Amino acid sequence: MAGSVLLPKPCLMRLPHYYRRLLQAMHEGQSIISSDELGEEAGVPAAQARKDLSYLGEFGRPGVGYDVYELAAHLERILGLNEPKKAILIGVGNLGRALASYPGFARYHLQIVAAFDIDPSKIGQRIGSIRVLPLEELETFVHQNDVRMAILAVPAAQAQSIADRLAAAGIHLIWNFAPVSLRVPTGVMVFNEDLAARLATLSFFLIRQSS
Ligand code: ATP
Repeated sequence: MAGSVLLPKPCLMRLPHYYRRLLQAMHEGQSIISSDELGEEAGVPAAQARKDLSYLGEFGRPGVGYDVYELAAHLERILGLNEPKKAILIGVGNLGRALASYPGFARYHLQIVAAFDIDPSKIGQRIGSIRVLPLEELETFVHQNDVRMAILAVPAAQAQSIADRLAAAGIHLIWNFAPVSLRVPTGVMVFNEDLAARLATLSFFLIRQSS
């Protein structure tokens, strides 16, 4: 189901915002929600929210709104939120450890099934239930466990060579926390979380506001 709907990328990027607003509505006991409320959460006008949701099918009634539970269930199916997802983590420095310890991934059914590092003092450790394995076992582990997703938290200088190995091993999706742009073959997707770049942007706004 998740792959059967073709959506423009900006629309796809807004769906999690709509979903989050729906969760809040459920929490507050609200059963009908307007496109105004959904649009506000995603930072777009109501008309854009209606257009986005029209890609998903016939939802909502003019002048009434959207059924919160029906729309949330549909978004869960489209986004594959309830489908179990396995990932491996590469690099268990401070950031890698924080990601491995983050309980919020379970809400989206993401399980980190193993971590890999080259530091002998870290290999063999456990972060909660996640074992830290030597990098040499990467390819075998990916094949044996049919893992498609990797979270990359190694230093920038090491990230490309690890990305090459991940792609060759059959990883389809890399969630990259290393502050570097990665080149990957067709068929592999990279999503960047560049905290350093974000901080530089924040710094710009902070300095401008205080001057
Ligand atoms: P540390 O806990 O070592 O102080 P750190 O938070 O300073 O880590 P980095 O220096 O960015 O973080 O390193 C992140 C992690 O990536 C470390 O655990 C390091 O051992 C690991 N690492 C470095 N190179 C590689 C590599 N090629 N493959 C896998 N892990 C690597």
